[in-house]
Amino acid sequence: MRLADATTMRVGGEAERWIDASTREEAIAAYTALIADDEPHVLLGGGSNTVASDEPFAGAVLRMRTAGVVVLPAAERRTRPVGDEEPDDASVIIRVEAGESWDALVARTVAEGWSGIEALSGIPGSTGAAPIQNIGAYGQELGACLVGVELLDADALEVRQVPASQLRLGYRDSALKRGDLRGLVLSVDLRLRRSTDGLSQPVAYGQLAQALGVDLGHRVPLADVRESVLALRGAKGMVLSDDPDSVSAGSFFTNPIVSGRFAAGLPEDAPRWSTAPEATATIVPLDADTRIPVREPVESRVKLSAAWLIERAGIGKGFALPHSRAAISRKHTLAITNRGGATGEEVADLARFVQTRVESELGVHLVPEPVLVGLEV
Ligand SMILES: Cc1cc2nc3c(=O)[nH]c(=O)nc-3n(C[C@H](O)[C@H](O)[C@H](O)COP(=O)(O)OP(=O)(O)OC[C@H]3O[C@@H](n4cnc5c(N)ncnc54)[C@H](O)[C@@H]3O)c2cc1C
Repeated sequence: MRLADATTMRVGGEAERWIDASTREEAIAAYTALIADDEPHVLLGGGSNTVASDEPFAGAVLRMRTAGVVVLPAAERRTRPVGDEEPDDASVIIRVEAGESWDALVARTVAEGWSGIEALSGIPGSTGAAPIQNIGAYGQELGACLVGVELLDADALEVRQVPASQLRLGYRDSALKRGDLRGLVLSVDLRLRRSTDGLSQPVAYGQLAQALGVDLGHRVPLADVRESVLALRGAKGMVLSDDPDSVSAGSFFTNPIVSGRFAAGLPEDAPRWSTAPEATATIVPLDADTRIPVREPVESRVKLSAAWLIERAGIGKGFALPHSRAAISRKHTLAITNRGGATGEEVADLARFVQTRVESELGVHLVPEPVLVGLEV
């Protein structure tokens, strides 16, 4: 089978061996053997954040197909702490097996009246992959409710609970994505609020607030948030459907984070958002007899809109290189789509073209968001 048949971008060559793990025992046995035998491998959930080369892959693809969602009983929550904080009665902690569909999980939590992930409706893929890039959209991010993951550690080859704090989650990033921590996520623990009034978390994204007809910070029925997010995403080709613009890996580039000084030099209409400053560096001079540490001034960090930068660099919706079947989505500048029969290399060529244009026009380096297999961008 080809990786193209298992990824939403529909590119990628034949893999030598496929393993579909439908129980955690199968997953543990398969992954342990892959590591012990040092066999090249790719882990896959729904393949919605993976873009692969069309060269044959001389190794195994381990796909997580495990299922199950349980509410952790109060006693277990007390005796088996899985996170940094103690749970309280207003919240529920659920343990979700890695192979569970993320969007089906969101639908279920909305139906149960549990808030915390309603704005993450419509994101394709598996729950086990959600912490890898700390999925986020429409003002919510997984990290806000992630308690921890159950990881089959690739180095120790043992299963252990890893609290969210040790995953060092960042914007579309984690220790697992960076490779600082290697392993197979077996299950994910989430803490959600029991919403007795059926209302969502405060709406934290302008476009969503506008679609719902409320001000930022208002709470609305959970189901309304889900419905509005799905409608907004649908209009951008950002839910998997028959729409040819949804044949993608979602956003191809992350929104770049630059220094405040650099951002100030960009055209006035460039959208920008302040982000939390980096941890303060503390310098204690060697000869100091003072007990007051000297703090380095922290430079502000500003997040820019990758879509705006791409458009400003002259690349619009629907753009394609000559004779290429990869194109910028006609609905969303940030998504690269497969117009039918594109190769992974065509996708990478377009991504590199976008990168080069944005860098030469605006001096900003765009970083790809999906995980690339056998490709370089
Ligand atoms: C139309 C569309 C819209 C999207 N919108 C968003 C969005 O709004 N926000 C957002 O954040 N993302 C978005 N994405 C990206 C993607 O859906 C998410 O990143 C999702 O979490 C990927 O899940 P997956 O199971 O498909 O991952 P895969 O592509 O299968 O895997 C992604 C990475 O995770 C690793 N991995 C997968 N499962 C495991 C596991 N059990 N243990 C360890 N490693 C594992 C893989 O090796 C790979 O490196 C979108 C994608 C598409 C196609």
